[in-house]
Amino acid sequence: MSKRDYYDVLGVDKNASKQDIKKAYRKLARKYHPDVSKEENAEEKFKEVKEAYEVLNDDQKRAQYDQFGHAGAQGFDGFGGAQDFGGFGDIFDMFFGGGARRRDPNAPQQGADIQYTITLEFEEAIFGKETEIQIPTDETCGTCKGSGAKPGTQPKTCSTCHGSGQMNHEQSTPFGRIVNRRVCHTCQGTGKEIPHKCPTCHGSGKVKKHKRIQVSIPAGIDEGQQIRIAGKGEPGINGGPPGDLFVLIQVKKHDFFERDGDNIYCEMPLTFTQAALGDEVEVPTVHGKVKLKIPAGTQTGKIFRLKGKGAPNVRGYGQGDQHVRFKVVTPTNLTEREKELLREFNKLRGHSSTEEDSSLFKRLKNAFKGD
Ligand SMILES: [Zn+2]
Ligand SMILES: [Zn+2]
Repeated sequence: MSKRDYYDVLGVDKNASKQDIKKAYRKLARKYHPDVSKEENAEEKFKEVKEAYEVLNDDQKRAQYDQFGHAGAQGFDGFGGAQDFGGFGDIFDMFFGGGARRRDPNAPQQGADIQYTITLEFEEAIFGKETEIQIPTDETCGTCKGSGAKPGTQPKTCSTCHGSGQMNHEQSTPFGRIVNRRVCHTCQGTGKEIPHKCPTCHGSGKVKKHKRIQVSIPAGIDEGQQIRIAGKGEPGINGGPPGDLFVLIQVKKHDFFERDGDNIYCEMPLTFTQAALGDEVEVPTVHGKVKLKIPAGTQTGKIFRLKGKGAPNVRGYGQGDQHVRFKVVTPTNLTEREKELLREFNKLRGHSSTEEDSSLFKRLKNAFKGD
């Protein structure tokens, strides 16, 4: 495979300044970085870009390349010899400002987000509520103001890593030199040593506290939804902003009601006489009892809709309904007298399969026809 011209790779012309080259490289490195890129062959392109930059950014290598092309640049020892296995990470950190590998231990950092799960009664989720939650959290130690040092003393620069928070271990291998980076074991990456530790927090700079937070749960919230409370997460580090608090909602099951979105569902039992003769029944809703007229001849599975008796939409878009499904309950433990009456009823009625007004009986009759 023939190599592309390094200037073409970076999209700069032959007279490009070092600054232009750096700029072009940053842009392309961001575009093709294998950890973030969605481009095709990102890793290959990234390597190509990196290689071009390493030559064009080095005055000596660039001059050599200008004169002799790829052969000139490859003539340099160390090119493709010394490998820094942390390479991707370094560039990533340099351009994306993150990662544990080469973070400035003194740079401000946003605190971590906290998730807290709260369990609501069925009705609480529908009507919302004001509540106070207590969150175990790390707070900045008041005694040392977070430095971890005993008041009147100062943390000093870590003598092992000289403040960088990391250690480099160079190794020679058959593949070239490998540089391993590790978090400094003396300071755990903070870059500091504390000769006299704060008596309150023992040097961590943080104390465990229970933070009380008022949470306003909106009406209509549902299982699995989250409420974000900005700035109520863990405190920031080195003066960074705090993280956020996410309150995850769980809702207890109800004996009678079920919920799907803004609608509420329930099943109402009817005696077979109520179903046959019709009746007026009281249906519970979360908004109170509702009277409902049942027409004579109501079948199991019949659904009535009570408009607006569901849950309010959590975003304020109206109100759900309650769907009431009726279920005719066959009587059990009949007395002799009741049995007598039902036999008489059956006689009056004739055999049940002569029932003409039920399509199910009709279909049953048809199914027996072949026998
Ligand atoms: Zn250290
Ligand atoms: Zn302290």
